[in-house]
Amino acid sequence: MSIYIDLHIHSTCSDGVVEPEDLPRLALEAGLSAISITDHDTVNGLEPAMKAALRLNMEFVPGVEISTIDKGSDIHILGYYIDWHNQGFLDWMKIFQEGRIERAYKIVHILKKLGLKIDFDHVLKIANGAVIGRPHIAKALVNLKQVASFGDAFVRYLAYDKPAYLPKHDIAPPEAINILTSADGIPILAHPGVLHRDEIIPTLIEAGLMGIEAYHPLHPPEVSSYYKRLAKKNGIVYTGGSDFHGEGRGQSTLGCQNVTIDVLENLKALVAE
Ligand code: AMP
Ligand code: MN
Ligand code: MN
Ligand code: MN
Repeated sequence: MSIYIDLHIHSTCSDGVVEPEDLPRLALEAGLSAISITDHDTVNGLEPAMKAALRLNMEFVPGVEISTIDKGSDIHILGYYIDWHNQGFLDWMKIFQEGRIERAYKIVHILKKLGLKIDFDHVLKIANGAVIGRPHIAKALVNLKQVASFGDAFVRYLAYDKPAYLPKHDIAPPEAINILTSADGIPILAHPGVLHRDEIIPTLIEAGLMGIEAYHPLHPPEVSSYYKRLAKKNGIVYTGGSDFHGEGRGQSTLGCQNVTIDVLENLKALVAE
């Protein structure tokens, strides 16, 4: 059995381009023995992905990636082994999803005011029932020939501090940690090397954070090593994954971080506790 795993993967249920039921097969082809699907603010892909994984004898870890805000920065909290039928948890997902629709509508409105040709129906069509995010708006802008490329849509309009950027639902990281632990999940800080907000880590650990994501395509090797050490120093676990979306930023491939199975064993030890 392969020792390689990938604990950070998106599907068409959020802003990825591969259907959740197809991800386990692709992961197997990439030489992986365990995966987690971690869509933004939704668990809709878990059931189909888990069924497909079972058929292939691939270990499946239910996951999610929740967006939060702290002093204007977008902080993502991954949650593993959540009880994804927990009603309180599902109610929160619904609140986040509705907030995202409202936000996308407002972003489109700003883009129109900036003189771009775009309409909300087109964005909805591209999202095709997925939990909506900026990547769907970026694709609409590409389709409607309003920008040169997907990346260009972010650079010119959608990225933080650009004219059409709007924050998402206004929940703070400790609230997301609570939402996850209330559903028996293991909260992990996603890609801290992208945030440059390490000063919040002690507060998050106090709030119940159980780990940090050390391996991520936007972390150079020395940054991954740094976060591994930081996790060990704080007595929490570290995780990692490709943040695979199938396209877009970085174009990472499944399994590209060479995360090994011992990372999963450490995560599972927390479930057992
Ligand atoms: P949202 O969840 O709506 O805030 O959109 C965030 C998503 O957009 C991220 O998860 C990435 O998939 C993508 N993204 C964020 N920043 C960029 C960027 N600068 N270039 C390309 N994609 C990006
Ligand atoms: Mn994304
Ligand atoms: Mn993220
Ligand atoms: Mn992600």
